[in-house]
Amino acid sequence: MYDIIIVGAGPAGLTAALYAGRANKKVLVLEKKVYGGQIINSSLIENYPGITQISGFDFATTIYKQVLELGVEVKLESVLKIEEGFKVVTSKNEYLGKAIILATGVSNKKLGLEDEDKFLGKGISYCATCDGAFFKNKTVAVVGGGNTSLEEALYLSNLAEKVYLIHRRDSFRGDSKYLDEIREKNNIEILYNSIITKLIGNDILESIEIETNKQKKILSLNGLFIAIGKVPDNQIFANIVSLTEDGYIESFDGVHTNHSKIYVAGDTRNKELRQLTTAVGDGALAATYAIKEMED
Ligand code: NAP
Repeated sequence: MYDIIIVGAGPAGLTAALYAGRANKKVLVLEKKVYGGQIINSSLIENYPGITQISGFDFATTIYKQVLELGVEVKLESVLKIEEGFKVVTSKNEYLGKAIILATGVSNKKLGLEDEDKFLGKGISYCATCDGAFFKNKTVAVVGGGNTSLEEALYLSNLAEKVYLIHRRDSFRGDSKYLDEIREKNNIEILYNSIITKLIGNDILESIEIETNKQKKILSLNGLFIAIGKVPDNQIFANIVSLTEDGYIESFDGVHTNHSKIYVAGDTRNKELRQLTTAVGDGALAATYAIKEMED
């Protein structure tokens, strides 16, 4: 029997583990992929107080090591369901916990085009820092208009020969600081008011069809990086906690769910600002409530 089972080893889950571990609780963290969550793909973090610059990988690895040193168990297992009690069923085992913290983050939003899944890893990627190196001196496109797409375009411009930045509107929602840097790069071409309408290729992606101001054209390329935001993926928890209409876990007073002893932290809950700083804040708060309410 664990005191606290944390689902998700991103910054929110690992911070919860850090606080619970320091409080001497028996803690298990379950993660389906790799520790770090989305931040591990961020080449550079510059907006975390007290740290001028750090890579997402170094940031996540530091918290991960801190947590392991406290004796927290981290297992790479996919959670399939949570039953009252609490019994957490994973792809490999079943675990019992007195309290649960859900910190499952969000998943990549897809364009929804035919063959998007077929070309995944064969020209399509959702992560420039993970896959950019495969496109050295090649032609790539990034689609999206938020900070992720701008960061990815900048990152790729240092590897690829040519980067198209495709956005569906005529202005970006990402920070002007990144846009200024993009405008200084002579191998990034911005395509405004453009929508990708088709993915073309046999075994691998060879080109895309885009529509710009009602005109269609074909762009030949080697890679397409999709950075159009994230979506929650919480249906497996719908039996035990309430979800919002758009699929986030409904949170009350910050990190409580509608179920006592189940808490939610990070991007997967309904909240105003999904950032690293708010994720770690959620993690700290969720662990603190879990410990306090367990002792009460
Ligand atoms: P985002 O800010 O939600 O931006 C998503 C972008 O994708 C928007 O520009 C949106 O267009 C576009 N989009 C959505 N659906 C689309 C579709 N079906 N087809 C084409 N385009 C589509 O997502 P994000 O860039 O992943 O950022 C998420 C959060 O993380 C934000 O708060 C961001 O500031 C933060 N972040 C911060 C940093 C940093 O500070 N270093 C780095 C990365 C991310 P519209 O604009 O037309 O809606």
